[in-house]
Amino acid sequence: MEFRTKSIHIGEEPNYKDGGTGDAVVPLHLATTFARKEVEIPTGGYEYSRSSNPTRKAVEDKFAAIEGAKYGLGFSSGLAAESTILFALVKSGDHVVCIDDVYGGTQRLFRKVFGEKYKVEFSFVDATNAKLVEAAIQSNSTLIWIETPTNPMLKICDIEAISKIAKAKDVLLAVDNTFMSPYFQNPLALGADIVMHSTSKYINGHSDSIGGAVMCNDDAIFEQIQFMQNSVGAIMSPFDSYLVARGIKTLGLRMEQHQKNAIYLAELLEAHPKVNKVIYPGLASHPQYELAKSQMTGFGGMISFEVKGDILNAKNFLEAVRHFVLAESLGGVESLIEHPALMTHASVPIEDRKKLGISDTLIRLSVGVEDIKDLEQDILQALAKA
Ligand SMILES: *Cc1c(COP(=O)(O)O)cnc(C)c1O
Repeated sequence: MEFRTKSIHIGEEPNYKDGGTGDAVVPLHLATTFARKEVEIPTGGYEYSRSSNPTRKAVEDKFAAIEGAKYGLGFSSGLAAESTILFALVKSGDHVVCIDDVYGGTQRLFRKVFGEKYKVEFSFVDATNAKLVEAAIQSNSTLIWIETPTNPMLKICDIEAISKIAKAKDVLLAVDNTFMSPYFQNPLALGADIVMHSTSKYINGHSDSIGGAVMCNDDAIFEQIQFMQNSVGAIMSPFDSYLVARGIKTLGLRMEQHQKNAIYLAELLEAHPKVNKVIYPGLASHPQYELAKSQMTGFGGMISFEVKGDILNAKNFLEAVRHFVLAESLGGVESLIEHPALMTHASVPIEDRKKLGISDTLIRLSVGVEDIKDLEQDILQALAKA
């Protein structure tokens, strides 16, 4: 089956047997526990909803299908998914190599929780250079954690090159694939061992559910993460599973439109006299355009750009837009806009922000699926006021 067929049908085969009602859409199963006819045999395979739940099973089957993976697991947030991966695969005294401009919440989780509290060692390196990843690997390294494209600088890591290093050194590679969604990038096919998503972003796509997903192919890795999913209990709720399963059905359609609108706006911004520079992996001016083209099947809906002038010009622009909602997060049908230095990356020390290139005039767009005419007019009138 192709992507959009899978995203609609997998996990939702109508149940006609044994008095099943043949629901065309997976029902919302709220039951915490499932009655048995015989003492030793769970009816329909379900016992208790933390361990497994029919609505969660539907979305977990969809997670696996859209990443082209054997297994999928659902969690209560992206960070719950990350925590569970680390609990399952890393122990005190182990070493993890992590990309330096990783998502802020991931950085806090790794440094403050697994680092300071549980004594896992971390090296944060510029993983856009695979050689730096290789050089950071130690005898106690067990995991490499990358994110590509990065946030908000949209730098690209070579997943295949890093996966070869990981295999040669017997270290697992996990990729946070939130920014591309499974529609535009499949890290498992490029050699990664584990893929993680914040479903709060593109996968659900409607800014109304916090959730996380993990996909993998290896039986032993799956068993360890599934054991930890049940042991830690940070599961995706039935209602969130229902919403996310519903969102996934239009993931392909949405990603196509996010990208179409983003390419249009990236080109518009790049040609505008009030714009300093535009960062979008689908522009030939992106320093890693060739790598982006080779490992992704599209370029997504995220754009970062600098307005000319100083922080006041950036603020004027942000407060002048009408259709772009001034808010953190990304990946919803509605266009969002934010100022990394003052909002999502405000907690990053100023020297680190400078090193990463997060200037005071940098603005990040999560381009939605609205009519492009309205988005274009909005950007142009706001730039006039910047
Ligand atoms: C949002 C996000 C996360 C964290 O996910 P939550 O669902 O907010 O817990 C992790 N990685 C990336 C790239 C994100 O954008």
